[in-house]
Amino acid sequence: MLRKAFLAVALAAATTVVAPLTGHASAGGAPPTAAAVNVYYDTSSAPTFASAIRQGAANWNARVSNVKLVENRSAATLRYREGNDPRGSYASTNGHGSGTIFIDYTQARQYYVTRITAHETGHALGLPDHYSGPCSELMSGGGPGTSCTVASPNATEAARVNSLWANGFAGTYEWKVIYEQVPVHS
Ligand SMILES: [Zn+2]
Repeated sequence: MLRKAFLAVALAAATTVVAPLTGHASAGGAPPTAAAVNVYYDTSSAPTFASAIRQGAANWNARVSNVKLVENRSAATLRYREGNDPRGSYASTNGHGSGTIFIDYTQARQYYVTRITAHETGHALGLPDHYSGPCSELMSGGGPGTSCTVASPNATEAARVNSLWANGFAGTYEWKVIYEQVPVHS
């Protein structure tokens, strides 16, 4: 994964040689020396939503290359919880792979659960809310209403996350608590 990140940087610097660089990716060169950029997560405190959390993570993994979500309880920096909270679901996170994601039962009954889990995971990967966006946008969250079942990031969102993770875990990140204050629809 570090190799991919390095390649992504190299490609960004020299976009006209994409094909040759890709072709040489497996030929020679020093092997990666640092740990891969994996974000380990734990679903054990959100058993009701474990499969939705895994699907949401898989949806991210299918579209981004600079970070990978891997379920691993003992190594987890990202933990999912479930319960009832009048404030709804939230992500308490540094926006860079650490934190707690809380899935609220009431919202989980109202909205497509995998969209909730993938959306909250998007916060843990660094994306903010954008409730005014269309259903095709994951980070529009509950904005488009309860009928929206899109649970994958769009190309813009995936590109943004790849950019945010181009340097792996390097950098400093501000801790935030992001509540899903979903707009009321008539
Ligand atoms: Zn949100």
